[in-house]
Amino acid sequence: MRRLPDGRVQFEGPGEVPPVSMSLSSTTWNRTGDWRSREPVFRDLTPPCADACPAGQDVVDQVRLLSQGRVREAGEVVLSANPFPATTGRVCPHPCTSACNRGRMEGPVDIPGVERALGDLILAEGVEPARSPATGARVAVVGAGPAGLTAAHYLGLGGCEVTLFDRGDRPGGLLSRGIPPFRLPRSVVDAEVERALKPGVRFAGGRSLGRNLDVDELVREFDSVLLAIGRHLPRRLGVPGEVANGVVDGLDLLSAQGLGDVPKGRRAVVVGGGNTAIDCARSLRRAGFEVTVAYRRGRGDMPAFADEVEEALEEGVAIEDWLLPAEVRVMDGSACGLRCVRARPGAPDPSGRPRPVPVPGTGLTLPADLVVAAAGEELDALGLPAGWVEGGRVVLPPELAGRVAAIGDCAGAAGTVAHAIGEGRRAAAALACRLGAAAPSEDLLSERGAEPEVAGFDRVRTAWHRPAMPSARGREDAHLRRADEREVRRGFARDEAMREASRCLACGTCAGCELCYQLCPDRAVVRGAPGAYGVDPSRCKGCGVCVEECPRGAISLRERGGT
Ligand SMILES: Cc1cc2nc3c(=O)[nH]c(=O)nc-3n(C[C@H](O)[C@H](O)[C@H](O)COP(=O)(O)OP(=O)(O)OC[C@H]3O[C@@H](n4cnc5c(N)ncnc54)[C@H](O)[C@@H]3O)c2cc1C
Ligand code: SF4
Ligand code: SF4
Repeated sequence: MRRLPDGRVQFEGPGEVPPVSMSLSSTTWNRTGDWRSREPVFRDLTPPCADACPAGQDVVDQVRLLSQGRVREAGEVVLSANPFPATTGRVCPHPCTSACNRGRMEGPVDIPGVERALGDLILAEGVEPARSPATGARVAVVGAGPAGLTAAHYLGLGGCEVTLFDRGDRPGGLLSRGIPPFRLPRSVVDAEVERALKPGVRFAGGRSLGRNLDVDELVREFDSVLLAIGRHLPRRLGVPGEVANGVVDGLDLLSAQGLGDVPKGRRAVVVGGGNTAIDCARSLRRAGFEVTVAYRRGRGDMPAFADEVEEALEEGVAIEDWLLPAEVRVMDGSACGLRCVRARPGAPDPSGRPRPVPVPGTGLTLPADLVVAAAGEELDALGLPAGWVEGGRVVLPPELAGRVAAIGDCAGAAGTVAHAIGEGRRAAAALACRLGAAAPSEDLLSERGAEPEVAGFDRVRTAWHRPAMPSARGREDAHLRRADEREVRRGFARDEAMREASRCLACGTCAGCELCYQLCPDRAVVRGAPGAYGVDPSRCKGCGVCVEECPRGAISLRERGGT
């Protein structure tokens, strides 16, 4: 026998082991369960990543299947919530990652990176969901952005006959006419849109509400109507000179550039601080412009996604904050600069951000042959009945409930692709039920039995999880990417995506690791299929060892007989 440096004792052979009491026969007669006051319950909780996902994806399930190389099954899971994973994997601001419990260990799981790889793989492998039998129900969807496309896709899959109207000549909305190709390649959007339209969706382009599309007629002719027209009306600068040549609207600029119509000039000023402003600035850098973004508040208040701002700065975009436009300087009918005044932070507005207050006597002119107004977009209410618009968004009168609904940006969604997709699927689910069609899942987590309680970091037993550093995807060098429209962010190859996916802790979700089965001192855990364990009440004393040791918090303790 010897004593180890940490104080423990190690026996050299069996003869050294002191006598211990042990049973010489089976103890299965000893039904200790009757003594307990508490009992463990196997209950899956909601993982924080899934709780944060606006599209409502079952992140754990799709990531688990991909980590095992089961691409088709992982694809089926993701497509049951989101018809555009290759898109969201590229452009979603990924609130899932900020919520990821692994972020409190070595670094969060790169969920969008894994989602993008999965999206690309299932496009390459041609994974497509199957359509339910036709029901004869007819639905009109107006607006073929991510909200309208998602709703149309799931209604078509459910057996409805869907007509998808759009004023543009191709579907995609801001995916194909807003977000630039260096962030979201057109080939990816086109392939995902094509798959989304396959199950019985007819695209009717060149049809615009208030011009050659009448909403009352749609309500008469179709069983249901969904409005998903986004927000496309540019907010004006409201300063003298804004109608001069060389003053353009941000969305028009992005849309034209997407069609290969590159503006000419040397210096540009972009007014705004959202995604449109940053995307315009980055696109203009690629067209050879020196670009300054003039934003009326502080850099930290910019609504643009932080990583987009960082990438814009890397590409040489200058950002001037606390600057208010005062006048477009015009020479010979064309813009030659933007006169601005400095601002200082004032009292907070309803958004909680400080109001910009002009500082008298601080005028400066930013020279520019192109001035881009990219200070936000509003609802274009043309063609909508007066009582359908409230506070700048579509709000339908209660008597239309079930017949007409509004989704996505036009209905006040939070302005991301994932929000639009989540709204589209939930609207399709509600409508399909009403029309007797097969409905997509409204809430994937609750349908697989997960409870709403979120499995926070306190539920994770870190000691049971092997350390695993995140894989970095990186991005193209700023000098190279400024030269063309190449995709800025790199993706994972299949094996890299599988490795990254295997870092997921499956928070709150039984992963079938069997630890509870092995550690229960009373052998009270009953094994079913992996992930389907139970407790033999005649043996369980309610000691809670399984609850304490479950690496991912998928077992809870409750009072005996409680709910
Ligand atoms: C430049 C830019 C960059 C962005 N970057 C990101 C990003 O990186 N990540 C992210 O998550 N979100 C981003 N967003 C936001 C995101 O694109 C939107 O939240 C999302 O596209 C909203 O989807 P939607 O379907 O509601 O509307 P939209 O995508 O705007 O689609 C609306 C559709 O309705 C059609 N339409 C409009 N009016 C009519 C009419 N009167 N009649 C018929 N059809 C009509 C339009 O042609 C369009 O096809 C960005 C937005 C912009 C402007
Ligand atoms: S859609 Fe966005 S939030 Fe949801 S899992 Fe994908 S990256 Fe995360
Ligand atoms: S470790 Fe996995 S389950 Fe847990 S929050 Fe992160 S991605 Fe979600």
